[in-house]
This record gives sequence, C-alpha cells and structure tokens, in this order.
Amino acid sequence: MRFALLGSGSRGNALVVEVGATLLLLDCGLSVLQVKRRLAGLGKTPEDLTAIVVTHEHSDHASGVEGLARRYGLPVWATPGTAAAAGLGAVGCREFDCHAPFAVDDLELAPFPVPHDAREPSQFVFGDGRRRLGVLTDVGAPTPHIAECLDGCDALVLECNHDVAMLADGPYPPSLKQRVGGRHGHLNNDQAADLLGRLDGSKLQHVVAAHISDKNNTPHLARQALADTLGCTQDWIAVADQDGGLAWREVV
Ligand SMILES: [Zn+2]
Ligand SMILES: [Zn+2]
Repeated sequence: MRFALLGSGSRGNALVVEVGATLLLLDCGLSVLQVKRRLAGLGKTPEDLTAIVVTHEHSDHASGVEGLARRYGLPVWATPGTAAAAGLGAVGCREFDCHAPFAVDDLELAPFPVPHDAREPSQFVFGDGRRRLGVLTDVGAPTPHIAECLDGCDALVLECNHDVAMLADGPYPPSLKQRVGGRHGHLNNDQAADLLGRLDGSKLQHVVAAHISDKNNTPHLARQALADTLGCTQDWIAVADQDGGLAWREVV
C-alpha cells in the first residue's frame, strides 16, 4: 500500500491511496486540470483512478468531485448526508454508512463519524489486509471512538489545522475564530498531539501533519507538537503542503 497527497488545506484537498491495481482518490477540492497536473507529478493519470470517496461536502473537499467523476466516468462514494449536501445525486453516488466497513476493489475502507460542521462527515482507515493507514482531518475534537479507530495504525495523516495562540491573535473575525476553534471546527496542534499520544504508535511508519492553516499555523509548530509527543526528531514528521501535497509514501 502507498499513499500521497495532491493538496491539503483550505485551497483544496485530495489524497490518493494505492493497493495493487486500485487507486482511490479521497476528496477532490481541486479542478480537473489541477488533479491531472498533480497526478502526473506522482506518475499517474486520472484514467488510473478507480473511484472517488468523499469525506464531507465542504468545497475544499468536494468542489471538484462531480466534474472529475463525469469527465472520467468514476464511481463516487459518500454518506447519504454528504451526497445530499454536496449535490452528488446526479453522478449516481454510491452510499456508505459511517459505521460499516466496505471495500473498493482491493482496498478496505473503515469509515468513522467525526464532529465537524457538515451534514454527515466521516474519516477513514484504509487497509490492504495487512497494513492500515488512518486519515483524520476536518474534526473539531477527538472522540474516544476516533481514538479507537486510529489505534495501532501503520501510517497516519493527522490534521494540525491551527496553533491556539496564532488563531487567537490572527486575522480571522471572531465568529470564524470560534468556528475553527470550536467542537465542530478543526483540530489544533495540541489536540492532534494529545490524540497521537493516546494511540498505540508502535507500528507507525509515517506520520503526516495535514490541513495546516497558512494564517494560523506553521509547519514548524505542527511538526514540533507531533514530534514532542512521539519523542522523535522533527524531520521524521512529514508535512502535507497546501499546494504541493506530499509525494508517495510506502507503507510496507
Ligand atoms: Zn477541509
Ligand atoms: Zn470541512
């Protein structure tokens, strides 16, 4: 199994996971052109994609789903709430339940619900029968269920959206600060580090800090928080760049 990110953050999210001949796109908050360009950087084309899975309807995750699905005839998976809120009915969305694992060809998906201000948002643990990749972004607060789902993963992509002090002192209006920092907003560095510290990390091969705000956080602060928790060097923590994403990571 291997994974990469095409982009991460408010300007557009998309992650690819590959197992055998299955290449799944998780979210598409990018234009068809950008997906094409960024996949090319990973040695792939949109024709190589098997399906798109959508976590929730926010535009940084869903704006490009319909266009890409139509253009390349790709099946789209979403919860009923996400399908309705994102207006994905026209692409013949396949629906999944937040608590029911399912498979897309060779890839196993274990979705779980998250507190976030969307209709029926979910995040995922991907598996190939041997290894597990946990992905968690767009979550206001960790829950015991989330920690249970992500426990013992071989790789983690973890939201480090903001630094609490930078958000408080930053340029956002008070209402937006409240939304981002609230229970249905985004995970801050301390919450991400605290969650990471509660997980069995004995198998971890990769930890990726993702969905980092460029106004209310820095890659350095996100790295520092996660590295302090794991007791590793900061350069062991990978950072998904807003526009550059992250190159392939093998989970062996
Ligand atoms: Zn987002
Ligand atoms: Zn969101």
